[in-house]
Amino acid sequence: MPCSAASPELRWTRETERRGPGGADRALRIVLLGPPGAGKGTQAVRLAARFGVPHIATGDIFRSNVDQGTPLGRVAKRYLDSGELVPDDIVIDIVSERLADPDCRHGFVLDGFPRSAPQASALSRRLDELGTPLDAAISLEVQEEELFQRLAARARADDTEQTIRNRLRVFAASNHPLLRYYEQRGLLARIDGVGDPDDLTELVVARLKDLMAHPITERRRSAEVALASMVGR
Ligand code: ADP
Repeated sequence: MPCSAASPELRWTRETERRGPGGADRALRIVLLGPPGAGKGTQAVRLAARFGVPHIATGDIFRSNVDQGTPLGRVAKRYLDSGELVPDDIVIDIVSERLADPDCRHGFVLDGFPRSAPQASALSRRLDELGTPLDAAISLEVQEEELFQRLAARARADDTEQTIRNRLRVFAASNHPLLRYYEQRGLLARIDGVGDPDDLTELVVARLKDLMAHPITERRRSAEVALASMVGR
């Protein structure tokens, strides 16, 4: 799939924007949520290439700093080795800086960030500052047993049985507030992450088109109605 500025999806997003106020130029700004092993990395790479935007994976940033023995890598290593989250302030600083890079002007696919409610609100604040709000949060959902098997078959240094179990536990504890955060803002799309990776990419693109065809105010209103009816039940 070509990733030049002339790709059909990029034209599509620009046309979508022209319908909005001001008609500013824009592309795609999304976060991918989901447990370790859900396939966020695979989908993030494909979506980034397809829309011609950078793929920003916080796990990759940490791993490359560990490999290079930088001060950040020395701090991050023990969290990666145990499967715990690197402290919010460190991750937030890294992502905030990265988002100001010129290649993020037309968007990004964030993979592995945010992973906590404070990271999600810091991201919103940063994007408000930059005047480039998020388009969607895609949650890839896969059952825990399947995840464990996928991760155990992978050969990354932090994929030991104990670390995998801990990463899944850390994920389970932090995911719900994130889903709620994005649901309330009308940004959430939940997608079944089991299936052929190509089909999954097409599904994600279709859901993105669907979401972005509706203005954010309309999406927020229907999220409020849905949440209110759940509370009233
Ligand atoms: P996985 O999704 O398979 O756990 P990642 O590459 O996304 O793998 O993350 C690897 C590790 O990097 C995590 O276990 C955690 O220690 C650290 N990390 C990555 N992203 C974040 C984040 N947003 N906040 C805190 N720690 C993070």
